[in-house]
Amino acid sequence: MKILVLNSGSSSLKFQVFDMPSAKVLVKGLAERIGEKTGKFKANDYVTEQSIPTHKEALELLTGYLLKPENKILKNKNEIVAVGHRVVHGGNTFVEPTIINLEVKEKIKDLFSLAPLHNPANLIGIETAEAIFPQARQVAIFDTAFHQTIPEKNHRYAIPESFYRQGIRKYGFHGISHQYVSRQARQKLGKEHSKIITLHLGNGASATAVLNGQSYDTSMGFGPMNGLIMGTRSGDIDQSIIFYLIEKEGMSPQEIQNILNKQSGMLALAGSNDFRDIEAAAKNDKKALLALEMYAAAIKKYVGNFTAQMNGLDALVFTAGIGENSEKVRELVCSGMDYLGINIDSDKNLHPRKHDGDISASGSKVKVWVIPTNEELEIAQQTFDLIKK
Ligand code: ADP
Repeated sequence: MKILVLNSGSSSLKFQVFDMPSAKVLVKGLAERIGEKTGKFKANDYVTEQSIPTHKEALELLTGYLLKPENKILKNKNEIVAVGHRVVHGGNTFVEPTIINLEVKEKIKDLFSLAPLHNPANLIGIETAEAIFPQARQVAIFDTAFHQTIPEKNHRYAIPESFYRQGIRKYGFHGISHQYVSRQARQKLGKEHSKIITLHLGNGASATAVLNGQSYDTSMGFGPMNGLIMGTRSGDIDQSIIFYLIEKEGMSPQEIQNILNKQSGMLALAGSNDFRDIEAAAKNDKKALLALEMYAAAIKKYVGNFTAQMNGLDALVFTAGIGENSEKVRELVCSGMDYLGINIDSDKNLHPRKHDGDISASGSKVKVWVIPTNEELEIAQQTFDLIKK
């Protein structure tokens, strides 16, 4: 059964077609710079640069590629049985993969105010796919859903209850990724009761405490700026800074939002948000080294916090661009944590793939694993499981 997975942003559309249940990837690619003068479309080895005015033209380019006889992917559009959409915010409403209908689309619209950058683009992806693949089931997989198990003591803020009633609470993000890698870690541990911390370290970054397979706490909150230091986002800061900037500097909410979202994090500390550059610079640049130390310290704070909350830790998992590729970050995070039972083998840390992702030192009480994330596969799997019922 062929399933198309879509992750649509305001000016981009990432896609993969899977043959399920084998999970074979038939096509992987993206359309970017949608709406700009010249867009770029890439599917497997095929690349074209041309104007892509809207998401509709992007999906038309994709269907053209899928149906081309020499590509041997589809004979007919109807072979796409389902389209799985990544939807960033499901609020309190969506806790599971959901077949999309009019009512679901209305609810996704109601959540625009909670995710103004993401949900509108996700809805465009859904409506375009409905038009181009009308025979397919459209399924929404929410990035917040995995975190809906976080108990009230961890998802509420200590502010007046009226705000909670209007939906101001911790939602958490990267749920699809945390769910995917924590499931693999649980399988490796092979026990029912497990205490796992997953570290999704990409451009955005978050840590999650996964207790017995369920999200118990996570570092992102009401929005995706909180928690760890990220590429361009500040992570945790003292709220007073915002009021100081408003009152003393006369800044507008938009200006402050822009600073905390786009001009902070590693970019502000090290002058770059690419860890390859930062690590190279850290050899002789104090600022870059300090940035890496602050980045690792922010992660350690959450590892300590979550280990205390779960009263122990079986496994620590690194994933996403930085978690999978930066031995330096893994080393800085794991150093000096033997009190918590975390010890890594520095040779294994250099080549995790050679060791099936296991970089723990022999005798380390906590298993430390590098597990590549695959959000598209998780979406395809959850879509498949829902529609085969
Ligand atoms: P996102 O999906 O959030 O855009 P990714 O998970 O792809 O992000 O992570 C992107 C980041 O991963 C890059 O900004 C870069 O800092 C980091 N990265 C990628 N490859 C390497 C590498 N070989 N060494 C260190 N960092 C890397």
